[in-house]
Amino acid sequence: TLFYQPQYRLSDSKLTSCEALIRWRHPNLGIVGPGEFIEIAEQNGIIGQITNYVLSEAARQEKIWRQKGVFLPLSINISAENITSLSLPEYLVKLLDDNMINSDMITLELTEGAIVEELGCALDTLTRLRLKGIGLSIDDFGTGYSSLSQLHKLPFSELKIDCSFVSKMMEDEEAKSIVKACINLGHELNMTVVAEGIETIQQLELLKHFKCDIGQGYYYSKPVVPEALEKLADQSLRSIV
Ligand code: C2E
Ligand code: MG
Ligand code: MG
Repeated sequence: TLFYQPQYRLSDSKLTSCEALIRWRHPNLGIVGPGEFIEIAEQNGIIGQITNYVLSEAARQEKIWRQKGVFLPLSINISAENITSLSLPEYLVKLLDDNMINSDMITLELTEGAIVEELGCALDTLTRLRLKGIGLSIDDFGTGYSSLSQLHKLPFSELKIDCSFVSKMMEDEEAKSIVKACINLGHELNMTVVAEGIETIQQLELLKHFKCDIGQGYYYSKPVVPEALEKLADQSLRSIV
């Protein structure tokens, strides 16, 4: 099942978008987080099926929201193996067509580690996705050892600073410098910069001071079921029809 975590524009605290995060509703264990099964799925060749499920479920939800007047761009996590599959762009574009979703409503998130791992095959698929208008985000930035020339070559539209830096930056001067440098780097490369894992007002204020664009974290909201996200969206996004 998919939970959704809201993302807010830091300058005016407006809800701008949300990230779909998978959970497994297990009959005995209850709700199991992706940390428990995504890696196993990747190692056992079933991540393609999971990603296709996540994409189609997110498209279904997007359509439901749109019919209710809620226009909410969605970020979706994909794995390294997905970008080596040439069928991903076609699959996604058909899904968007079938559900009449504009491609600019969707951003695919790929961890920095996955990008480095699959660099050879990734460029072609990523470029095709970007040319179709789909957003591309580097997730967990700062943990994956990409080089500046790789970053420059790849068509990313968004950079997400890893939560480990955000969580330490109030006590740790180095983490603080890294966050500031990532924000400036992202802006220099024309990317929207998102900070993950914001838990306190102090972190939020510092990120605003550094001119970070978007924030996500427990300070605003944990990932929630679609109905709860709709309520959050209601306050700022419901269009006047
Ligand atoms: P991610 O994409 O970096 O997602 C952010 C993770 O941080 C989420 O964990 C979210 O619940 C958590 N988080 C959000 N705000 C805070 C905060 O303020 N403090 C703390 N401590 N944590 C926060 P989650 O949902 O357990 O997901 C973990 C990872 O699993 C994701 O990291 C993503 O890499 C992967 N994942 C999630 N859904 C999918 C999916 O559909 N497909 C694939 N391939 N991977 C997924
Ligand atoms: Mg993510
Ligand atoms: Mg992340």
